[in-house]
Amino acid sequence: MKRSFLIKPMLDDDYPTAKYGKGIYIYDENDKQYLDGSSGAVTAGIGHAVPEIIEAMHAQAQKISFVYRSQFTTEEAERLAEKLSHIEFIKDGEYCSFFVNSGSEATETAMKIAIQYWQEQGKPTRIKVISRWTSYHGITMGALSLSGHSERRKRFVSLLDDLPTIHAPYCYRCPFAESFPGCQLKCASELEGAIQRLGADQIAAFIAEPIIGAAGAVIVPPEGYYERIKEICERYEILFIADEVMTGIGRTGKMLAMEHWDVKPDIIALGKGMSAGYTPIAATLVSEEVMKPIRQGSKVIMSGHTYSANPQSAAVALAVLDYIERHHLVEEAAENGAYLLNELQKLAKNYPIIGDVRGKGLMAGVEFVSNFFSKYPFSKNVNLTNRIVATARDKGLLIYPASAGIEGGDGDAVIISPPLTIKKHEIDQLIHIFRDTIEEVQGGLMMDDEL
Ligand code: PMP
Repeated sequence: MKRSFLIKPMLDDDYPTAKYGKGIYIYDENDKQYLDGSSGAVTAGIGHAVPEIIEAMHAQAQKISFVYRSQFTTEEAERLAEKLSHIEFIKDGEYCSFFVNSGSEATETAMKIAIQYWQEQGKPTRIKVISRWTSYHGITMGALSLSGHSERRKRFVSLLDDLPTIHAPYCYRCPFAESFPGCQLKCASELEGAIQRLGADQIAAFIAEPIIGAAGAVIVPPEGYYERIKEICERYEILFIADEVMTGIGRTGKMLAMEHWDVKPDIIALGKGMSAGYTPIAATLVSEEVMKPIRQGSKVIMSGHTYSANPQSAAVALAVLDYIERHHLVEEAAENGAYLLNELQKLAKNYPIIGDVRGKGLMAGVEFVSNFFSKYPFSKNVNLTNRIVATARDKGLLIYPASAGIEGGDGDAVIISPPLTIKKHEIDQLIHIFRDTIEEVQGGLMMDDEL
């Protein structure tokens, strides 16, 4: 093998070289075709090499390469912020956008703005942001502090703030060993206990992924969960931050996932699907309520990066949002997502290693168990998730390895989240390869031996 100077996620692994992409497919150096069943990391939401986006990139590159945000504003960044503020579900909140380059920066900026909101009002002790075990909000130190993803935290624990505090609404394995609705949403009410324990005057905000992604393989909360959360936040005057980095921009069949519960956050983090992978851009959307004391106070948000609001990324995100609108991809995601979920649920009936199938829109999670009835997970040395992902890749399907949601990061699961442009016959192809994959991997397991 040729010596590589690129630091890859797994140093010793042999990755195929991506040569080009077209629609929902990626082709490697041998022209082998892969169906992009996870949109990369739930990112490439409109597929590859879309001519309208390439044209927008080209047109913008001819205008100007870069301007720094403290020297100029640009028409592209202004229009993008305006477009985001016009998202139907949140338009009454008059949200303004702070642009960054990654989801981690968007959640970390959200955290800082929440803290600043209280500082401006003479309440500097409100600095904690409560989050949930079984969550992922990003890899930088602040965002990782918020994250309850043990695998990603463990090397840095002594440097992190101890912010994940409450359990996730993980009904398949209820942390309270109850079931909905008899549980009376203990998982949401736990927030109140946490606030009382820590002291409301110490807390700036609560942050949650509307539907938990990487740390829980698409954990959809039960009905009423976010209504209860919002009610508690309001009662204790705590800001609610929705981390929509993975769920936002149509992924779940609504432009923003919080629309499913009609609960409006104070601050929203967006990323991934915003530019569908064509350029790095992410955003922290801040409601006018939160902006007001900052406008009246120091009039500056002490955050930002060199590439924040760069015109090339803004132009691309605008083109992506236009494309999603023009092709009704949010509605398509709702319809095709229901089809995908149904097909996965049908498939699950034949394979006992599939313990649970869950999802909303084109964001589906499949959790694997060594015993269907006891829900006992596979032991780590079976390496099941990686076996499934690798087998699928060999067969020409890309899926995203996730944790099942068991606190501590245990449990095997994958996320299936193809581009919003996928058609029904392509979902059939995805299901076909996924079935072959499970058949082969399940057949190769000596169930009890490997527990
Ligand atoms: N929040 C959520 C919900 C995410 O899924 C991710 C990425 N998986 C992030 C934040 C971090 O985004 P990025 O990798 O772009 O920094």
